[in-house]
Amino acid sequence: MSVPFIDLKRFEPNFLEELNENLIQLFKNSQFIGGEEVEKLESSLEGHLGVTHAITCANGTDALQLALRALGVKPNDIVLVPNFTFWATFEAIVNVGAHPVTIDADISDAGVDINAFSEAISQLKPKAAIVAHLFGWASSKLVSLRKLCADNNVSLLEDGAQCFGTMYKKESIYKNALISTTSFYPAKVLGGAGDGGAVFTNDAELADKVKQLANHGRTSHYGYGSVGWNSRLDSIQAAFLNLSLKHIQSRINSRRASTKLYQDKLPKLGIQVMLPPPDFEENGYCNVCIVNDAEKKTYLESILKSKNIGYANIYPGVMSEQTGALPYLKNHIGGNAGKNLSCTVLNLPLFAYMKENELDEIINVIERSLHNDQQWTY
Ligand SMILES: *Cc1c(COP(=O)(O)O)cnc(C)c1O
Repeated sequence: MSVPFIDLKRFEPNFLEELNENLIQLFKNSQFIGGEEVEKLESSLEGHLGVTHAITCANGTDALQLALRALGVKPNDIVLVPNFTFWATFEAIVNVGAHPVTIDADISDAGVDINAFSEAISQLKPKAAIVAHLFGWASSKLVSLRKLCADNNVSLLEDGAQCFGTMYKKESIYKNALISTTSFYPAKVLGGAGDGGAVFTNDAELADKVKQLANHGRTSHYGYGSVGWNSRLDSIQAAFLNLSLKHIQSRINSRRASTKLYQDKLPKLGIQVMLPPPDFEENGYCNVCIVNDAEKKTYLESILKSKNIGYANIYPGVMSEQTGALPYLKNHIGGNAGKNLSCTVLNLPLFAYMKENELDEIINVIERSLHNDQQWTY
């Protein structure tokens, strides 16, 4: 039995029928840009996440750039970025003309190493810093990181592309950030039927700037207060996301149940699983196995492959070692924990509405490989 790494086709009963009706209505009104669906999505996100302002945009990468621009990051400013993250986090800094400085990772939670982060702030006096909340939780040092930035006049942007639905002390992570972003890329927890993103903040001035920049810097239809670009979310996407948001809790519950099963069973088979730090309730975005022995990792991957079970390595390389980073990288602060993490991480299938027999199959394949193969001496 094969199990995909991700399956986006598992809609709730009647989801597609309801979507169809909503889309027909939207097409009949020809409200393709902005309008009711976009307004509804933004206000629903505000209510759902407890933030004052949610501004939708074209994708999660634009969301980061919009936030950096709104924070006043200018060409030649220094911006700290995790060395272990998705490439878009790094790209956003370069695309606003600023200089990225990579910060090493904390191997325990995949966030930034707070000592390296703190050292970079005192040494380099950056204008801003980005942290990325990967895998479905955030750094155990989240509160200290926020305070460190606030105390040193560094604007902290939180890349929350992977943490929709993640709770810290029973509140959404986005709620207490200065400014944060998410992505509606289809594979994310709240995924669209295409690209989309959003910026969240409780600061009205930042929200106004983001809104303006995402719509050509407009102050009126033919009046322009700044040079922005077109980063609007399509109304069609908003309609799909509004309907998805209705079902988000049941999707997250399903993801959490699968996560829990992995966390119960894998350690008994000798597989180390990265857990969210205390006080976080994860959204079940990603299963994270850490396999320190390279030979064991290769072997495990070959077994999964031969049994048609999907897996991934999120992420297989750090930012500072990407060819595309070399012309722009200003500095790297800290050690090699991020690189170690990228060599040892292995992700098993995880998505909403995984079936029990799929999870059993994955666990059984790993268990059988342990018993049957002489190579497996761990
Ligand atoms: C997906 C992702 C992004 C980019 O989002 P897009 O919508 O694909 O542009 C940025 N940062 C992180 C951490 C992501 O996972």
